[in-house]
Amino acid sequence: MTYDHKNNERKNKPHLAYEDDLQQDKQQEKNNPTVSHQLLSNPQNLSPADIITLQRTIGNQAVQRLINPAKDEAENEKEDLKTVSEPTPRYHIESTTHAAQRVPVAGRQDEAGATASDPGVGWNYQYDVSFAGSKCILAIKTKINPIAHSDGRAVPTADEVKQVKKNTNKAFQQVWDNEFVLVETDTKKKYSLRTKLDFVDSGEDLSVSLYSGDGRANLEEWYVDGDTLTLAHEIGHQMGLLDEYEDPTVADRATAASPGIHTDHSIMGNYYVEGMDQAEVKLRHGKHIATDISTATGRNFSAIKPNKVVMLLRRIMGWFY
Ligand SMILES: [Zn+2]
Repeated sequence: MTYDHKNNERKNKPHLAYEDDLQQDKQQEKNNPTVSHQLLSNPQNLSPADIITLQRTIGNQAVQRLINPAKDEAENEKEDLKTVSEPTPRYHIESTTHAAQRVPVAGRQDEAGATASDPGVGWNYQYDVSFAGSKCILAIKTKINPIAHSDGRAVPTADEVKQVKKNTNKAFQQVWDNEFVLVETDTKKKYSLRTKLDFVDSGEDLSVSLYSGDGRANLEEWYVDGDTLTLAHEIGHQMGLLDEYEDPTVADRATAASPGIHTDHSIMGNYYVEGMDQAEVKLRHGKHIATDISTATGRNFSAIKPNKVVMLLRRIMGWFY
């Protein structure tokens, strides 16, 4: 296993909690309808004409119901989105409800070693969130420090740094962006969890050393030619998520039967073996993030993971409100 040498660990969370998550994931997958591969494989390529077609095909009310099925019909009528070309009123209402204030979210993870001689490890993580309309935007301020490698490799060039920023943000968004909905307990309001990296020179949440060539990446050491899916995995740790693959030095992941192991194509698991193109986020990840956001904001959120059609529609509608 070479893709990650963060010695993760977890506090002894009850075994059953994880099995619960797994069951829910399975149930959700079962409930999800099969969706058009063409529609979903590259939703960012949808043109405005495609979107209008989609709206016309499905209907605004249907879209609204998908976005917020808890609402009753009368309210749907009242709040039904007019057309793609009339987004202003909703945006105005939402933007005055929640100012786009960025709230810092921080936490720490610690995983115990498997034996007395295994050190185990822990790490601090942080990011910030802001709320805008139907979205909760999770941003990780990331500082890239291009440096020479101890083996003599040169400092990455400015162009290489630029390319790494672009590729990493793309991979991060492909894996994590618009996968979960946060439901606020008090208001029942739903927010799509949107994720992005903000590259900064100071005030960073995450500081990364960037080396030329390829090598074994971890959360804080990246390589210009490294695999970007692995960086999407590493950035998962910056949102407080644990590794889920077997590691004999970590108590909860010491054997294949250990409670911290997941073999369900998780982006935090052993996707090298299970299939890189099948690696995906899981509801348990969204739940962890929702808990941290609840603590940081003083608002109570749960996480759900709707199917990809619903998430695509939420993303499209999120452009307008
Ligand atoms: Zn990892």
